Amino acid sequence: MEDTHILKFVPRISRDARNGRNRLARLGDWMARNRRTLLAIQWVIVIFYTLLVALPAFLPHPLPESRLFSGNFGAASFIDPSLCLASGEPILQERAPTLIPWHDKLVLFAQFAFWGVWWPFVILSMMLMGRVWCGVLCPEGALTEFVSRRGRGGAIPRWVRWSGWPVVAFALTTIYGQLISVYEYPKAVLVILGGSTVAAMAAGYLWGKGKRVWCRYLCPVSGVFALLARLAPFQFRVDRAAWERRPANSAAVDCAPLLDVKHLQGMSQCHACGRCSDHREAVALVPRSPNAEILNGPAPATNEVLLLIFGILGVAIGAFQWTVNPWFVRARQAAAEWLVNRDILWPLSDSPAWWLLTAYPEVNDIFTWLDGIAILAYIVTVTLVLGGTVLLAVCGAARLAGVDWRRLALGLVPLGGIGLFLGLSMMTVSQLRAEGIVLPWLGALRGALLALGLLWSAWLGLRLLRRAAPGKARLVAAFLIWLAALAAVGATWVLVFYVW
Ligand code: SF4
Repeated sequence: MEDTHILKFVPRISRDARNGRNRLARLGDWMARNRRTLLAIQWVIVIFYTLLVALPAFLPHPLPESRLFSGNFGAASFIDPSLCLASGEPILQERAPTLIPWHDKLVLFAQFAFWGVWWPFVILSMMLMGRVWCGVLCPEGALTEFVSRRGRGGAIPRWVRWSGWPVVAFALTTIYGQLISVYEYPKAVLVILGGSTVAAMAAGYLWGKGKRVWCRYLCPVSGVFALLARLAPFQFRVDRAAWERRPANSAAVDCAPLLDVKHLQGMSQCHACGRCSDHREAVALVPRSPNAEILNGPAPATNEVLLLIFGILGVAIGAFQWTVNPWFVRARQAAAEWLVNRDILWPLSDSPAWWLLTAYPEVNDIFTWLDGIAILAYIVTVTLVLGGTVLLAVCGAARLAGVDWRRLALGLVPLGGIGLFLGLSMMTVSQLRAEGIVLPWLGALRGALLALGLLWSAWLGLRLLRRAAPGKARLVAAFLIWLAALAAVGATWVLVFYVW
């Protein structure tokens, strides 16, 4: 007999009569048995990633007319200045098609690979597949673990275990990335992604033996991944009775992110590496509802919820918004005029270094101090206003309904995750547009995804609010407040995609 599953994209499960493990569980077992194959895949990605992070930073900027998906610049008409001087008339010349230099292609390819494909789809994969990216594909994870096997093996200091790192690291990395234009310039990519990789390897060298201390405690996106992976439609489930039946001296699981596998309760921290599959004949990869961990998993820590509300729904939205917000441009212009009228000119001076604030005079892209202050002020304002509004609404609704505000806040995960995907895919869209690829259905797709996020979070909120069985009036009032929080977030995306 076949089990069915709520999601169509999860393969239908058929029971294996011989050993009682279904196909999904056997996939987990395959991962446990084929570590070398997975390692080989990881090393291919490490090489590819290292080349794409490092090499473009030492190549010249691509010419403005260079394109990734076309072979040459194409024929073009241009005005020849020497002929103009001789004749006194503008004379049009034809230029024959010329090949786009390989280094321009490489820089554009790296840019498209990192920001057009990698980031948006890693975020999507967290919601659809849990942290398979972390456990199977991530080059930083592979490198930190590799170094850790050969490193000092020291104990993990208390400051490393501080639960606030995911919030602080995510906010600082996101803001710094905006200040140095990480989406546009390979040097900025080298500083942020390369710097993070070096830090991951240093953490691997210093702490743990063959473990991923960096990924567990310090990686700037680990907290975000942990929130989104709660929506994964499968998990490694532990049968405690089966676990106890096996001899206590069975070899321990080599769980790189340092989880207590026996007490594993969800996919939030699990990297889905598969190493524990079938351990003590008690661990199996099983399908589940994508809502299971939000509704019935362990309650989140306060810092996790703050990352969701002020990080994903605050800092990230502010970072996506400022480049498209015409009010930001006007406010910055007004501030510049105000400063000039008062003869305060230092904020209008250029950035002294590209690693501090964007500064690429060769392509005429230089931030002033005012630009940096304006970007910072914008992101902080959006974070405080939008995040503060959502936090107040969540706390108000939870109080009215008599439920834990932190668990209720988890209902925002689908909207937050879909928002992150939409925001990151803005880069994909603008890169495709620069290549001449127009997506006529884009507005409809964005609207559908946004509606999905809003409806999903609304439904989860209702389920969570009904937990404490409040009276009907309280439930309605709490749900309306919850909807107001969702509307505030939804409105920011409507502004970005349909108004500005
Ligand atoms: S619990 Fe640990 S060993 Fe098991 S799949 Fe998750 S990360 Fe891998």
